[in-house]
Amino acid sequence: MNLDSLYMRLPSLMQNWVCSLEGWRLRRNRLGPYFRKALEEAERHGNWTHEQTIAYRDRRLAEYIQHCADSVPYYQRMFQRLGIDPRDITTLADLERVPILTKADVRENFADLLSTKINPRQRVFMRTGGTTGSGLRFVATEESLHRQFAVWWRYRRWHDLPFDVWHGYFGGRPIVPLRQTRPPFWRYNRPGRQILFSGYHISPDTIGYYIDELRRCRPPWLHGYPSLLVLLASYILESGQTLGYPLRWITVGSESLLEQQVDLIRQVFGITPVQHYGMSEAVANISQCPCGRLHVDEDFAATEFVPLDDGQGYRVVGTGFTNLAMPFVRYDVGDVVELDDRLCDCGRPGRIVRSIDGRKEDYVILRNGARVGRMAHIFKDFENIREAQLYQDTPGVLHVRVVRGANYTAHDESMLLRKFRERFGDEAEIRIEYVERLPRSATGKLRFVVSEIQEGQIYPVTGIESICKSGQCLQG
Ligand SMILES: [Zn+2]
Repeated sequence: MNLDSLYMRLPSLMQNWVCSLEGWRLRRNRLGPYFRKALEEAERHGNWTHEQTIAYRDRRLAEYIQHCADSVPYYQRMFQRLGIDPRDITTLADLERVPILTKADVRENFADLLSTKINPRQRVFMRTGGTTGSGLRFVATEESLHRQFAVWWRYRRWHDLPFDVWHGYFGGRPIVPLRQTRPPFWRYNRPGRQILFSGYHISPDTIGYYIDELRRCRPPWLHGYPSLLVLLASYILESGQTLGYPLRWITVGSESLLEQQVDLIRQVFGITPVQHYGMSEAVANISQCPCGRLHVDEDFAATEFVPLDDGQGYRVVGTGFTNLAMPFVRYDVGDVVELDDRLCDCGRPGRIVRSIDGRKEDYVILRNGARVGRMAHIFKDFENIREAQLYQDTPGVLHVRVVRGANYTAHDESMLLRKFRERFGDEAEIRIEYVERLPRSATGKLRFVVSEIQEGQIYPVTGIESICKSGQCLQG
């Protein structure tokens, strides 16, 4: 039995203890003295001019490439093979000589990508689900996690968010057993000042409980996936109630934030959500400033925007500076953005991204009508799945398209079916289909969820504003 299923079998009081224990561990790791130092440093960089920041980025890039040349066999061989003198790589333009690193490259060259300079005891093992559902295992260090967390907190402090303020969290990880039909649909992480709400139990029948709990605890800050906060907002609106107390902050991440979602959140909660873009691989970070614009955190990584073949946007390709244990140089994140060519009037440094178009993960619709999003996590532990995509043309029926890796076996298949059952119970019929490649959209993007369900069949959460405007406000 894995830890997740063990947790699910515990009584809710003990689940609260587990959440608090995990919260305490994260807090100790992330808010230790080293974090404070990293935050001070990051905030100092935030006061620099754009030119100063770019000069710093290029200096850091040169040092990082030298670290790779000195201690990472994968890059040593590559530089030799391609006749690249690592000392010549000091700008984003120079980096173009280095091939792009894909997730498949990381999987196939795992050992060779480890730096021989970093003591194995300092390694922290990480996993990611990823936009296209293909899981990735890699290595970081405690220090790299502190630095990443510092950049995230710099952005939060731009918005006057203090440490230690209670918040309601709506994320993708299941924290309440799916079969549970009665409240509480939340758990507490007391050291982290966090109420973890289950996204899987939000429905018209349960929304009253969520509202009551929020009113009881009055957390001034909500944080989580936009798809879940929008779900919450839409059901609150539908129930004819209000939250009943003023919120000060809503922050979102992990998925791109759609304009319609911003409108709905503003309509229901009275404030505008702010977003940041980042990933565990730590090869790029983008933060929204108080003016509402998305700044590239140039001091954190050398972020390249590689034009798509059809000219409809840019791929994010990044070289993070923080992870010395397993350096990723020109790592293709798999997300797509649009760029703005002007700097921001707020005076903070960094190029500006107009919108983050990747990770626009749609919902799938279960038999009972529930909409569930952010399912890339299901694939998090499947290293033998190269790529996966969910296709749906009927509510309650889910076609799981899988591109098998070389070591894929029947065991992977049964594990995959079990994961889906854990998530959806009997509310979805799962049909696994093995394909050689996944179909891409007209612009070459790989969508994790492809849904043919027409908007008229079940009203879309993201289309509520237009339904309201047409006068049928949320009746259907
Ligand atoms: Zn700005």
